[in-house]
Amino acid sequence: MKKPSIVILGAGYGGMITATRLTKLLTANEANITLVNKHDYHYQTTWLHEPAAGTLSAERTRMPIKSVLNMNRVKLLQDEVVEIKKEDKKVILKNGEVDYDYLVIGLGSEAETFGIPGVFEHAFSKWTVNGAREVKEHIEYIFAKYNNMEEKNDDMLSFIVAGAGFTGIEFIGELSERMPELCSNYDIPREKVKMYVIEASPSALPGFDPELVEYAMNLLENRGVEFKINCPIKEVQADGVILANGDEVKAGTIVWATGVRGNAVIEKSGFDAMRGRIKVEPELRAPGFEDVFVIGDCALIINEEINRPYPPTAQIAMQMADVCAENIKSLITKQGSLKTFKPDIKGTVASLGGKEAIGVVGSRKLYGTPANFMKKMIDNRYLFLLGGPGLALKRGKSPL
Ligand code: FAD
Ligand code: NAD
Repeated sequence: MKKPSIVILGAGYGGMITATRLTKLLTANEANITLVNKHDYHYQTTWLHEPAAGTLSAERTRMPIKSVLNMNRVKLLQDEVVEIKKEDKKVILKNGEVDYDYLVIGLGSEAETFGIPGVFEHAFSKWTVNGAREVKEHIEYIFAKYNNMEEKNDDMLSFIVAGAGFTGIEFIGELSERMPELCSNYDIPREKVKMYVIEASPSALPGFDPELVEYAMNLLENRGVEFKINCPIKEVQADGVILANGDEVKAGTIVWATGVRGNAVIEKSGFDAMRGRIKVEPELRAPGFEDVFVIGDCALIINEEINRPYPPTAQIAMQMADVCAENIKSLITKQGSLKTFKPDIKGTVASLGGKEAIGVVGSRKLYGTPANFMKKMIDNRYLFLLGGPGLALKRGKSPL
């Protein structure tokens, strides 16, 4: 009998954990496993605010896939997914195609712009390794260029972060921490640099613990960050943004962090989706397609307690991967019943640059050094889950 083919799309948090789990749950005789990814490396999206601001090397956030997965068991296809032909059980790639018996979609997300004009043309919105490199290089270029200008344009030295969600706050945390050193290295008077965080909602980090939000805002304001709260951006231009109230804010660097939507492949492939995310069945399959699992940022699940979607996070992507791998094993071995997915949210911790962070873990609120310690431990825990103690020791962050 032909061995079933499992095809995993995307080597992010969801895809990598699914692949490692499947190599342990199934023998080589039971299934072929193929992982399709744009690059031959895996990167930790949750670290990218650091290389974007220049506080960590981009190299630290990525690793060759073959250094982590058992390549005797997983075939890596380095290619770009273009479309999923679900009726034909086939995935169209930029340079070919691949058939599947079981498909796992873990292609992650892309920037949500809400149709605001100018975002892709004038703002940095790609939270990828190369996206992070682009932001860092741009910042350093702008600082170098400023001093060579005959007629200086001080607006060039202003930064706008669009959105005070966790991505925006973590990025400005890193940038504001680095700013004194950056100004000193590039001979830029510190008082000429402006850092704005512009948020549409009535609060930064909407919905998060107000005491911790206040802590974060005070800390960032003390580093020179100016918050514009309750100020939706309605247009992005080459030299700044226009707010809904008509005000203009000028800047030489605009970083976009107003949230995410599921990978465009989802809608292109004709799945029913909300903001590019498929509302999955409890066992993580796409409705109507018993052989298609959807995990991570491409999947939508509702938190029944508040009747709103769970936020797309690495924490949930990894938990989904565990359930997805077990369910594929059950289908292939015809043993056991399918598990339903229930997120187990352990908490949320966000870095603020340097040794600062905020977070809620269980019922405990953390800030400052203990929160920073916890954040590093969370980053290292993922490496441990992916590649055991060896990977965590080799590639982890010092928690101190
Ligand atoms: P990803 O990890 O994004 O992986 C998707 C993979 O698919 C990538 O390897 C990509 O290259 C590949 N891919 C995409 N399109 C294609 C294609 N067409 N063809 C082939 N390959 C493709 N969440 C937390 O829980 N905790 C945090 O602290 C946290 N911090 C964050 C910090 C930042 C700066 C950002 C941007 C996000 C953060 N998140 C955090 C959210 C978290 O990163 C995502 O929820 C998580 O990465 C989703 O995992 P995923 O497997 O769905 O997708
Ligand atoms: P988000 O949706 O959490 O936040 C986006 C913010 O942008 C919101 O506060 C929103 O009100 C604001 N916004 C939307 N439109 C706007 C506009 N026109 N003008 C100004 N502000 C606008 O998105 P995110 O911060 O990119 O995070 C994406 C996901 O990744 C979330 O699920 C988040 O929880 C997760 N994440 C987690 C961490 C962590 O746990 N440390 C870090 C980063 C991201």
